[in-house]
Amino acid sequence: MPDYEYDLFVIGAGSGGVRASRIAASHGARVAVAEEFRIGGTCVIRGCVPKKLLVYGSDFAHALDDAAQFGWTLGEMSFDWGTLRDFVARDVDRLEKAYTTTLDNNKVDHFHERAVVTGPNQVRLASGREITAKYILVATGAWPVMPDFAGNEHCITSNEVFDLPILPRRVVIQGAGYIALEFAGIFNALGCQVTVVNRSDQILRGYEQALRDRLLQITMARGIDYRFNSPLERVEKLDDGSFAVTTKGHDAMGADVVLVATGRRPNTIGLGLDSAGIVLGATGEVPVDDYNATSCPSIYAVGDVTDRVQLTPVAIREGHAFADTVFGGTPRTIDYGNIPSAVFSQPPLAGVGMTEEQARGAFLQIKVFTSDFRPMKNMFSAKAERGLYKLVVDAASDKVLGVHMIGPEAPEILQAAAIAVKAGLTKADFDDTMALHPSMAEELVLMR
Ligand code: NDP
Repeated sequence: MPDYEYDLFVIGAGSGGVRASRIAASHGARVAVAEEFRIGGTCVIRGCVPKKLLVYGSDFAHALDDAAQFGWTLGEMSFDWGTLRDFVARDVDRLEKAYTTTLDNNKVDHFHERAVVTGPNQVRLASGREITAKYILVATGAWPVMPDFAGNEHCITSNEVFDLPILPRRVVIQGAGYIALEFAGIFNALGCQVTVVNRSDQILRGYEQALRDRLLQITMARGIDYRFNSPLERVEKLDDGSFAVTTKGHDAMGADVVLVATGRRPNTIGLGLDSAGIVLGATGEVPVDDYNATSCPSIYAVGDVTDRVQLTPVAIREGHAFADTVFGGTPRTIDYGNIPSAVFSQPPLAGVGMTEEQARGAFLQIKVFTSDFRPMKNMFSAKAERGLYKLVVDAASDKVLGVHMIGPEAPEILQAAAIAVKAGLTKADFDDTMALHPSMAEELVLMR
């Protein structure tokens, strides 16, 4: 047997990589991880966590708007972007330390530099050091896609948006997916003029249509402008530092920040996987089997770099299953069915299971139940915004195939509903459950 320095070398200390490192070490493996940026990865450092804190911070604007109706007299109010930005940055620092401590507590060595694969059992660090390992795990995540158009060097992505020196007055956002709509909500709530431009006439492709329509209606009423079938063509920097932004078929508009959120591609450029005979897929992803194994027996991959489901909890499960499989003697695969997801737009939406459209294509007959209601919290609000919940049910078995909701706290409510869908419960089971009154969630058991 060759003598390797480590049993496992992980490239990338994000959600999947850290979980795999920790669990492999707990199974007795000698583990090292290399990270070229910051320990924690996209979710912790410049994704889910700081984004959610910005959502919380900005959402106060809506509560403050409504407060007077509930009897509050508010003095002069102002918002300071620097305070929110720095608070978020401090929390990211705290979490990075917590992740580093987790690695230390599990005796995982960490190298704060880039590593590339130089063979089936070898990596090279940026410093030039070569390290051998019995297994290599690729967990390098994904990277924002920047489409090709004139002036794209003036645009930022979600990598940079958390560090803006000042709050922009006008923001143009390209894309109408998760990131675009979450930041559209944040900047809109903070009082910026927001324009969302997209190449198609759709937002949130793949989500339940009725929810997408509702989000569009509410966000337009809140002042977000949309330009559909109108991708960015040119971004020109003006003398005052602002930008003239031209989108297809429209005159130029002014912007102080142009945020591009047009998907994320697997982070494999220059990673050296060809040295181990691994052929990348069409979007640069690392092809793997159900056990996260690549075509090279000593190399595995988990998380966004495999381009299966780009969600943190999925990467964590994959990393854990990999470690149990390879080092724990308990081969495990992941069940990718009924993965709940949410868009932290304002209002947020969330869903699990099949949309109405998907179910119509897969089942002979389905039933659809909807509740279109004005949340009690919004009763006194001038905004008159309505929530919308939808259940998609197989008519033959009565099984609930999908739950979709938009409205205050939708993601918090949906997590519990996802258990019911995952467990295969029927509409009758939902109906048998006593309502919890007064709540928005009770709509789930009151749809007839
Ligand atoms: P999405 O895939 O969600 O959306 C991409 C958007 O960009 C779509 O509107 C798409 O248009 C448009 N687009 C794609 N390619 C181009 C192009 N070449 N030129 C112009 N427009 C283009 O990507 P995001 O960047 O928003 O997010 C990446 C991933 O990160 C998500 O898929 C998600 O998995 C994850 N994420 C999850 C979050 C959550 O769970 N809350 C939050 C943030 C990110 P069209 O649809 O019209 O083709």
